[in-house]
Amino acid sequence: MQDPTIALLKDLVAIDSVNPSLVPGGAGEGAIAERIAAELRASGLDVQVAEAAPGRPNVFGVIDSGRAGPSLMLCGHSDTVGVEGMTAPFDPVVRDGKLFGRGAQDMKGGVASILAAARRLAQSPAGLKGRVIVAIVADEEYASVGADAAVADWKADAAVVAEPTDLAIGIGHKGFEWVEVETQGVAAHGSRPDDGVDAILMMGRLLGEMDALERGFIAGPAHPLLGRPSLHASLIGGGRELSTYPDRCTLSIERRTVTGEAPQSLLREIESVLGRLRATDPRFRASARLTFARSPYLTPEGHPLPRLLRESLGRPTTVGAMSFWTDAAILGEAGMASVVFGPGGAGLHGLEEYVRLDEVLACREALVEVARRFCA
Ligand SMILES: [Zn+2]
Repeated sequence: MQDPTIALLKDLVAIDSVNPSLVPGGAGEGAIAERIAAELRASGLDVQVAEAAPGRPNVFGVIDSGRAGPSLMLCGHSDTVGVEGMTAPFDPVVRDGKLFGRGAQDMKGGVASILAAARRLAQSPAGLKGRVIVAIVADEEYASVGADAAVADWKADAAVVAEPTDLAIGIGHKGFEWVEVETQGVAAHGSRPDDGVDAILMMGRLLGEMDALERGFIAGPAHPLLGRPSLHASLIGGGRELSTYPDRCTLSIERRTVTGEAPQSLLREIESVLGRLRATDPRFRASARLTFARSPYLTPEGHPLPRLLRESLGRPTTVGAMSFWTDAAILGEAGMASVVFGPGGAGLHGLEEYVRLDEVLACREALVEVARRFCA
C-alpha cells in the first residue's frame, strides 16, 4: 500500500501553485492553502489561514500540549517557480523511488514531510511540552511576503525550514542585495561626436570598477562558514539605434553578502565608485538605487537544534552552510533560531524536478523526533 505521506505529496504537486508575482498569471497559493488547511484540520491541529497579501494565504496549524515548554515551528513555502517548457508539471509521476513534478523538491516534498510529522505529533502528543507550530507560507520564490507576515503574528523558540538539503543540516546561508544603476548620456547623431555623450560607454567605466571589486572579493578574506562575498552584473540595457549616441543605459547588479557585512554594502560600494567617476569626468552622470535586499543567516552558535536534529535523523549527515537563500533568514531576524533541513532531489527550478521519496519519509521521521526532543 502506498504510504499516505506519498499520496499527500502527489496531491500537493498536482495543485498548481506557481507564484503570481514571479510569473504573471500564476495560480498562486489559494488552492494549495485550502488543501493544506484541510490536511491539518483532519490531523487534529488548530488551523488558521491568514492572507499575507490579497489572495496570498499563509496556513498555520498548532499542536498545543497544554503544558509549559519550548515551542518549535516547522516552516515551508507553498508557492513554486514557473513551469514554462515542462511537459506535465502538475502530473506527479513516481519512478525509481523519485517523484517528478514542479515543486516536488522545492519544496512540496518538505511540506509533505512537515504535514505528516504534524499528524503524527497531534495524534500521539504524549510527552510533548510547549507547542509545535506548522507554518506554510506564501511567496518564498519572489519576495517572501508570507514569511514577513508570519513572523509579525507568530513566535517560536526555534524553527526548522524544510527546504531541500539532501537531509544535510543547514546552519547558514548568504544574503543578497540588488542595485539598479542608470547612466545618463546625451543623444546625438552618430556623426556628431562633440554633441553626444555615450551612456553605454559610461556604464563601461562602472563595469570595469565592478570587476576590480569582484577581484578584491576573490583575493580578500572569506567567512569561515559562508565563504566570500561576490557580485555580478545581471542585466543590462541601453541604446536606441546604430547611428545614435545612447542617452541612457541601465544595469542591474546582484551582490551576495555574508554575516558581518553592513546592510546596503553594495549600494555604498557603487555610490563610492560613481563618486570617483564623477570627479574624474564632469560628463559622467549616473544614479543608483537599492531595489531589494535580504540578510544572510547563521544559526546562533551553540544552539542545541542542529545537534538534536542530527541525533533525530539517526544517520550520518553533514552540518554546514547552504548556497541558496531561504526564509530562515526572516525567521532568524525575528528571533527564532532556525536550521534548514529537508529531503533532497534534483532539478530545483529546472525542467525536470524530482524529490527522493525515501528522504521525504526520513525527513518526516526526523521532524517527529526532533519535535519530541526539543519540546520536552
Ligand atoms: Zn524553496
